[in-house]
This record gives sequence, structure tokens and C-alpha cells, in this order.
Amino acid sequence: MKNKHIIIAIDGYSSTGKSTLAKQLAKHLGYIYVDTGAMYRAATLFALKNGFISENHFNVNDFVLELHNIIISFKFNSDLGFAEVYLNGENVEKEIRTMHVSGFVSKIAAVPEVRYRLVKQQQQIGKDKGVVMDGRDIGTVVFPNAELKLFMTASDEVRATRRYEELLAKKDNVTYEEVLHNVRERDYIDTHRENSPLIKATDAIAIDNSNLSLEEQFEKVLQLVTKAI
Ligand code: C5P
Repeated sequence: MKNKHIIIAIDGYSSTGKSTLAKQLAKHLGYIYVDTGAMYRAATLFALKNGFISENHFNVNDFVLELHNIIISFKFNSDLGFAEVYLNGENVEKEIRTMHVSGFVSKIAAVPEVRYRLVKQQQQIGKDKGVVMDGRDIGTVVFPNAELKLFMTASDEVRATRRYEELLAKKDNVTYEEVLHNVRERDYIDTHRENSPLIKATDAIAIDNSNLSLEEQFEKVLQLVTKAI
């Protein structure tokens, strides 16, 4: 199975388990996993730390001028089995997953200059194929010729419950209602932005995993992968 390297693009709404599936596939196939959401989150962390964005202001122009100072990279962590994200040389894997960052990330991801830079980097990382990349625009913009495109959905409540439990486990002090609101707000901004909105590619295969176990989903997707390879 490893002789033909393909690109697997996984897009979909927030908290639909894209990264869990992508990690499972990458491990099974010996592919590289690229979490593009982590890149937008790292850019958001930079904007927050440097005061470009807060609850009541967003200094887009100055932020865009600073984009060349945002260096995002991945380093494989063999204990975890996936690559962690680094912002200007610092491991920010934990910091980018907080609700605080989630509250701003879709605003940062709607800025065309941010997308331009990160998409270029994503295309570079995936140029030799053998990658599983998850995000919102992988099958439509980053790799429109990907051999396999999946589009993940699940009900709002199922998604919010999963994300809430994840955040609780990490001791992020949030309520279920806050998480549900954040998931819906991000979906709204992601699907309504002008530049590369979240949309199912016409040739993507939709997977609603509201009622699928992880194993069932993996089996189903593995069949699609085998066909594509
Ligand atoms: O995947 P994750 O939920 O971590 O992504 C965080 C946010 O980053 C999304 O809500 C979206 O606003 C943005 N994003 C994007 N394009 C991608 C990946 C993520 O706009 N390819």
C-alpha cells in the first residue's frame, strides 16, 4: 500500500474529529500528518501575544505587516506519534488549543494575506505527496487535485460535547454552552468568509460521524483510501 503516495485532504466543520482520523490514517499508511488548523492557531497566538487582536479591536493592517515574523514549523514527537507545532522556535502545541485562542482564530484565518502565506507553506509541505492534511480548504484550495477528499460533518451537539470533554481533560475552565457557541461561531465565520470559505469540494466524500465509532469510521475510510491508492 505504501508504494503509491497520494494526498488525502480532510476538510469539514469544527470538532468533527478530522485530526483524530488524519492521525490514524497517517500512522497506518506511514504518511506525514499536517494539521493546518494548528498553523492558523499559531498565527492567532502571535497576534494575541503582540496585541494585534483583543476582545474589542483588531489591528489588521499592522498585523499583516508583521506576518514575515511569524515562522511556523512542525517537529515530530515520537512519544506522541505526531508532529507538534512550533511558533518562532517555541513549542506552542498546548497553548494554541485553549478556548481563548479558539475565540479569535477564525477572525485571523479570514485575513487573505494570512491564508496566502500559510497555503503556500502547506503546498510546499505536501509537494511530494504521502500526506494527510486536515483543515477547511484543503480539497478546494490547497490541493484541489488531491486523490482522496473527505468532508466531515456531525451534529452541533455531538461536536460540542467532544470538544468540551477534551478541554475539561486539559483543565481548560469552560462551560458546555461556551464551547457550543464557539463551535457554531467558528463554523459561521469559516463558511461565510470571502476568501476560501469552508465548502465541500464537489468531488469530496461526505462523512457524517455523529453515530459512528472511531473504529467504524476508520474502517470505512480505509476502504476509500485503498480504492484511491
Ligand atoms: O482545525 P481547527 O479547529 O484547529 O482550526 C482552527 C480554525 O482555523 C478554524 O476554525 C478555521 O477558522 C481556521 N482554519 C482555516 N483553514 C484551514 C484550517 C483551519 O481557516 N485550512
